[in-house]
Amino acid sequence: MSTSSDTRNQVIQAYPDHPTYNCSNCSAVIALQDEAITKLFQGRDGRGFLMHSAVNLKLGNREDRSLITGVHTVADVFCLGCNERMGWYYHKASDFSQKYKEGKYLLEREKLVKENAWQLEAS
Ligand SMILES: [Zn+2]
Repeated sequence: MSTSSDTRNQVIQAYPDHPTYNCSNCSAVIALQDEAITKLFQGRDGRGFLMHSAVNLKLGNREDRSLITGVHTVADVFCLGCNERMGWYYHKASDFSQKYKEGKYLLEREKLVKENAWQLEAS
């Protein structure tokens, strides 16, 4: 059954020429920096970025999790390249004020590195 965990050949090269967040472990592209909804997500559900979309991730099992902001139906997400847990995906939020998170990814800051395709500073 170990073959199901080897997903390295599914890693895609996405977003060339755009600043991205990459997996700090295997450098797989995970998300566009522009896709970050908020970077102020520390201390509530966890330290991380709420993202509209992401790539090179696989979903774990759905589960209900009690977070500070209420019960959420979430699934952990794992990097396709190295199986590292990167954060989670919000399937459903019970609290109305948290509905904006549904269908979004919460990616942990410390699992990501910034990859800038170009430099702002001209030399
Ligand atoms: Zn990885």
